[in-house]
Amino acid sequence: MRSLYINASIYQQKATKFSVLDGHFDAFYEGLPDGTFDEVIDLNHDTVLPGFNDSHGHFLGLMYIQRQISLDGVSTLKGVQEKIAKEQTLVRASHFNELGFETNALLDRDTLDGLRADIPVLVLRVCGHILMANSKATAMIEAAVGLKQPNEKFDFARGIFYEEAISEALKVFLDPSQDAIEDDLKAGEALCFEQGITSFQTDDFVTYPVPYERIIKAYEALSDTLKIRIQQQCHLNTLALLDDFLAKGYAHARYGRTVMGPSKLLVDGSLGGKTAAMHAPYVNTENKGILNFDQATLEAYITRLNAADMDLSWHAIGDRASAVILNAIEAVPLRQTHRHALIHAQLTGQAEITKMQRLNVGAMIQPIFLDDDIPILKRTLGAKASDTYLFKTLYDTVPTALSTDAPIVPLSPLRNIYTAVTRKSIKHPSVGPHLKDQALSIEEAIDGYTKGGAYFMRDDQLGALKPGYKADFTVIKQLDLTDIESFLTAKVVMTTVHGERVFERSSA
Ligand SMILES: [Zn+2]
Repeated sequence: MRSLYINASIYQQKATKFSVLDGHFDAFYEGLPDGTFDEVIDLNHDTVLPGFNDSHGHFLGLMYIQRQISLDGVSTLKGVQEKIAKEQTLVRASHFNELGFETNALLDRDTLDGLRADIPVLVLRVCGHILMANSKATAMIEAAVGLKQPNEKFDFARGIFYEEAISEALKVFLDPSQDAIEDDLKAGEALCFEQGITSFQTDDFVTYPVPYERIIKAYEALSDTLKIRIQQQCHLNTLALLDDFLAKGYAHARYGRTVMGPSKLLVDGSLGGKTAAMHAPYVNTENKGILNFDQATLEAYITRLNAADMDLSWHAIGDRASAVILNAIEAVPLRQTHRHALIHAQLTGQAEITKMQRLNVGAMIQPIFLDDDIPILKRTLGAKASDTYLFKTLYDTVPTALSTDAPIVPLSPLRNIYTAVTRKSIKHPSVGPHLKDQALSIEEAIDGYTKGGAYFMRDDQLGALKPGYKADFTVIKQLDLTDIESFLTAKVVMTTVHGERVFERSSA
């Protein structure tokens, strides 16, 4: 099959036509194309970009979150009560944010009981790192055997659960079958294609409190069905689980376009939840956040990963979390071919970045987090605020890829690029930009979202519009590459993976 696309405004090229042959870009033409074609597609002068590669998110979580009640923008108890009033058996709500809420506090079990005491109520904080439960839900969690007090990761008296205690708590309520997981993966793929995303590096093993192999089996069953390219960031949060995964030969296993990729760990928490591990305490507290692993354990992980030729993509928001990871990488003999990355890295400071440069450790960044963080950076971090979101420094000096971390934030590469370039909050437009000199140019942000992600997928035919590359691209209407404001209104109209049109917006 040889297809010719005409009237295209092609990213970084003078050509206006290109051909695709057997899933790859064949040629780009300024003048008349040669040869014969099976089909000719008119792109109406819309912009053609390489397909977006979301370098970190939660692919399986895209649908999981859609079945929850969103409390985004809800600022009163009455508002929460109205949102959850109709549920019959279980309330699962997400995106609660106490900053801007009338009580300025988490919803503890007494507060939730006041809203709804008859059925279990579970509310996830916007960061995904804190779960709040009413008495009914807390009693069910307490009756299950997984969690034992005392433990700093949860508090039955208040009905509050942090970090790994969240998945233990959720086990009581959530146990999807492999079939249900497959349905979610197929539906999540469609959401990605609508946004021009053609490859996704995803952390799925802990989306549900189920054995990780159930997730792998679901991908395996869909190996001929899923068209999106998936790299699993394999979230195995104990050494025993990692050993099990390696012993079963899952490292680098491939199922169609899905591949088992680097190790994922949550090394610390979030900024909004004040659980990101920091060198200095949060303003007006003695709290320095939570480190989920000590350096010795991380070194034990790295030793095993080295032996299996696996990279690591570890979650590090706080500067102390970044430092401990880098110390661990440095303490174990360095695999010269590694493509390690810190996921997030928004509070990673200049001191840590210097070390990243030395060790060639990359970053998977989410500029869109500025949307929520700009108003709280100074308030929670004080002087350290001016040593955060150093994305231009990262981009210029270490391998750097952009991503949304969806569904923690909406699945929109274009909004993410907007924030990378303007350094402004879309939600809080009255607050000025954060460290404007750390802005990326539009081209840098696009490259970070395409080539940058391909680097971490170790795919040298991905992420660019070039002959011989895989024909993954997206077509965007009303996108002006010289006007960043257009990124907020432009629309993806076509997405193609391996030369196959997997999404076309109807012109109505
Ligand atoms: Zn994430």
